[in-house]
Amino acid sequence: MAATLERRELGNTGLKVSYIGFGASPLGDVFGPVSHGNALAAVREALRLGINFFDTSPYYGGTVSETVLGNCLKELGVRRDDIVVSTKCGRYIDGFDFSAERVTRSIDESLARLKMGYVDILNCHDIEFGSLDQIVNETIPALQKLKEAGKIRFIGITGLPLGVFTYVLDRVPPGSVDVILSYCHYSINDSTLVDLLPYLKSKGVGVITASPLAMGLLTENGPPEWHPASPELKSACRAAAAHCKEKGKNISKVALQYSLTNKEISTVLIGMNSSRQVEENVAAALELSHEGMDEDLLQEVSAVLEPVKNQTWPSGVQQT
Ligand code: NAD
Repeated sequence: MAATLERRELGNTGLKVSYIGFGASPLGDVFGPVSHGNALAAVREALRLGINFFDTSPYYGGTVSETVLGNCLKELGVRRDDIVVSTKCGRYIDGFDFSAERVTRSIDESLARLKMGYVDILNCHDIEFGSLDQIVNETIPALQKLKEAGKIRFIGITGLPLGVFTYVLDRVPPGSVDVILSYCHYSINDSTLVDLLPYLKSKGVGVITASPLAMGLLTENGPPEWHPASPELKSACRAAAAHCKEKGKNISKVALQYSLTNKEISTVLIGMNSSRQVEENVAAALELSHEGMDEDLLQEVSAVLEPVKNQTWPSGVQQT
């Protein structure tokens, strides 16, 4: 298959990212164990098929994801300029710490694990669990210094409740947050991010979305044990997957294609743990650009999910 994956501008960063991004949380064994061989094959296949954006975090697998991704990229001899790498700070396996001191130390630890001199994007990870005023007044200024020191090129914020993005972006100096990473809000079962896109555009921030399969809800195998969705939402997604299977279709394919259709979103991060998944997902993207969406199937799946449409789950400490 020729590497013809579309690349999109990421806000005002000047970065051009493949519209499928490689979510590396599975490489931290978050969705079950992944051998080094499978991880390496997945990263190799991603690069071969034109994926140039890789996302990780010190939180995923308690630093394992960063280490595995760094090892794979090094073993494959990837040129640093050919890829865009994002990692995160403030969320760790032992809790949250968005202090200037911790995030400043964190990037050095991440760079050592990733075996790189800089990352393209450093995201404050799941800011709804910290004080948003600390993010505005302490964390982002600390990241600004890391930018000046050349350890990071751009600054991002991530979180589940959409209100955290407006809270922070309304309070920081223009241009100090380059990107936002939203997850589980642009997939067939929950598309609430769409209402925020004009605001994000007006702020000049790049938009990354994640979890088009709703962290495993929209897969034939279903979500991992720790998935926070309600039993009602899990059961509706199971029914939607079964509906697709009955028709000889795969729910993951239609779910990913749905997330890729909005051009205001620069890239969609999907977690992948094998070369087979990479191939399937890239094939789904290419099929979408050549043949368009299977609108009939999308309508049928949407109808099954209608009773739980836009249902989410609580995350973080309430403050906005
Ligand atoms: P996802 O919706 O991408 O689902 C991942 C799961 O789907 C994994 O089990 C994966 O093995 C499986 N999968 C992938 N392709 C498949 C296919 N073709 N068929 C069947 N199953 C398939 O959820 P995710 O991994 O949580 O999200 C993607 C990435 O986005 C993460 O790896 C991470 O990098 C990022 N992310 C960031 C945040 C945050 O910053 N707060 C939150 C969620 C995700």
